[in-house]
Amino acid sequence: MSKPADSQRMEKIVSLCKRRGFIFQSSEIYGGLNGCWDYGPLGVELKRNLKNYWWRIMVHERDDVVGMDGSILMNRAVWKASGHEDTFTDPMVDCRSCKARLRADQLIDKKGIKQCPVCGGKDLTTPRAFNLMFKTFVGATEDESSLTYLRPETAQAIFVQFKNVLEVSRKKLPFGIAQIGKAFRNEINPRNFTFRSREFEQMELEYFCRAKQGMQWLDYWKEERLKFYENIGIARDNLHALTVPDEERAFYSKGTYDIEYDFPFGRQELEGVAYRTDYDLSQHQKASGKSLEYFDEETKQKFIPHVVEPSAGVDRTVLALICEAYSEDEAPDEKGEMETRIVLRFHPRIAPIKCAVFPLLKNKEPLVAKAREIVALLRPHMYVFYDETGAIGRRYRRQDEIGTPFGVTVDFETLGEKDPALRDTVTLRDRDSMKQERVLVKDLPGILISRIS
Ligand code: ATP
Repeated sequence: MSKPADSQRMEKIVSLCKRRGFIFQSSEIYGGLNGCWDYGPLGVELKRNLKNYWWRIMVHERDDVVGMDGSILMNRAVWKASGHEDTFTDPMVDCRSCKARLRADQLIDKKGIKQCPVCGGKDLTTPRAFNLMFKTFVGATEDESSLTYLRPETAQAIFVQFKNVLEVSRKKLPFGIAQIGKAFRNEINPRNFTFRSREFEQMELEYFCRAKQGMQWLDYWKEERLKFYENIGIARDNLHALTVPDEERAFYSKGTYDIEYDFPFGRQELEGVAYRTDYDLSQHQKASGKSLEYFDEETKQKFIPHVVEPSAGVDRTVLALICEAYSEDEAPDEKGEMETRIVLRFHPRIAPIKCAVFPLLKNKEPLVAKAREIVALLRPHMYVFYDETGAIGRRYRRQDEIGTPFGVTVDFETLGEKDPALRDTVTLRDRDSMKQERVLVKDLPGILISRIS
């Protein structure tokens, strides 16, 4: 059962994202551009940490995957062969009462009668196919011969470069090609903050294998991907692997899972894991006239490999991470009175800032100098933030709100003024438990690296 939508929680999250610099509306001073978003100073860090961790797990820590980075603009022939030009469409409906433009599958169905979800009107146009690809022209003339599209998925670059990558990497089946990059879809109805955007990023793996092992790899990748989300801090209880029913799968797919997350606005897809058979490579081989076959040295046979594709959205995952991390609890203020504390409980591995360093007082030069020294010690290993303004409790609170997992405070003990045995020690505060431990400055890099990697 999907949890009920929590619009209040979502409003708080959207407001925090803007207030603390995670996500802004694109072109905001001109009234925005629907479906487009900009990531601010903290959002860009979160997004990079996610992409880097995906790359680490999917490419660097494996022997059987290599990466690539394809161009956004490709020959139009790619989109004809892949089927996108003819069939990458959503059914669109207009409401004649309130003029809303809607996706036909998002209408309200009341006892078999379709209604507009905006105004409840029943005067709707019949659905017509709307192609989601953004058109553009390459070169100085704007006609059919120069037409192409902004890519609606990154995967096709992998398929059309399959032979080149196979040759240079000298991989044997099964092996994969991974890519992270922008994709564009002219969504009929962008909504739910960044969830459905018109410009977004994907993290895709095309894992090539033999036909008889396709279904096994499909299940393997579903499990691997679920583990990935758990390892970035998303609770297993909030993740769901839905088996897409036969009638809803793409015709060429033999099996598809949707990995869904319980967003505050409902259970929605984060990632699709699809067994796409040999459809894509076959289409491109047919249309280009170039062989995209694999030569099996053992059996001396040539064939087109099958492929399993885990395809995740960067922006949707960033949004899930923020939704998952958002929490409110109680913490004492400067006077010891309890107040509501907003905390983003990010897993340290994806938190935008890993550690904040504070001198207890900003007007005591030796404290400031020592804190600066610690910043320099940590910076080669992680993103560190130095803050000397305001009461220490307030400084902690500011970091809690943006999810910084660790805080280091340089106090008079650090200078050895009270007890020489404590010289060169600092307090290390944990965001979630708010507990402080005293550690040697020289041990800090080791302790923190082990907790954030
Ligand atoms: P949906 O059904 O939500 O439109 P989809 O099934 O068309 O998604 P895919 O084509 O499987 O999506 O794309 C793979 C992933 O890319 C999705 O799981 C999602 O994370 C991401 N994605 C797709 N469309 C968008 C979008 N408009 N905005 C943000 N992310 C998207």
